[in-house]
Amino acid sequence: MLLNKLKGIVAVFSICLVFTAVASKLPYFSMIQNTANKQIQYIIDAGHGIPDGGAVGVDGTTEQELNLAISLEVAKLLKKNKISFEQTRLDENSIYTEGETIHAKKVSDVRRRIAIAQETPGVPFVSIHMNTYPNSSVHGIQVFYGDGNEKARTIAQSLQQAFNQQIQPENAKVIKPISKNIYLFSHIQNPSILIECGFISNNEELNKLKSEEYQEDLAKIIASVLMSQG
Ligand SMILES: [Zn+2]
Repeated sequence: MLLNKLKGIVAVFSICLVFTAVASKLPYFSMIQNTANKQIQYIIDAGHGIPDGGAVGVDGTTEQELNLAISLEVAKLLKKNKISFEQTRLDENSIYTEGETIHAKKVSDVRRRIAIAQETPGVPFVSIHMNTYPNSSVHGIQVFYGDGNEKARTIAQSLQQAFNQQIQPENAKVIKPISKNIYLFSHIQNPSILIECGFISNNEELNKLKSEEYQEDLAKIIASVLMSQG
């Protein structure tokens, strides 16, 4: 249907662009949250972080707080199941180490996330975000994958399928390649998965995303799909 097609298109264009136009020198160390002394299987990346709140809902809810809540829940489940992983951030703050202005802090933050990915080559980088769009009727979870990476595509497909079957039976969204304009993803070689958990510009979806129960449902799906990968 045209409407679905249109929704797909607007979703692609409305993906919250993590960071763009950042200078090219890369960093030197990173904060690694290694949860076990075995080979890291996933990197769980909660998008944004203060001072970069990401998208903002009509009631002032910031994307970064929802991204963090879901990421921490995913981490809890992975840990419980003895899956080894790293997290890029563990609290509301982004992981910048330098910079006076918000832009400079964002640059520092994205460089550190890139460094974390580069330190564990081949490990899937699973980034959790919220979407936003001027038309508040647009809603639905959508998963994106690093273009040309079969592993990322497989995980993204399993995630989208699980979300559509278990949480949003009316959701007709399909997986799409991650835009080449997102600086973070264009600078890492790891299999990359970007989960846009819903539109915080849609009140109904925002209210769900704010509830602990829904956050847990999303996290359970994410964790179980990750655990089911060979
Ligand atoms: Zn975002």
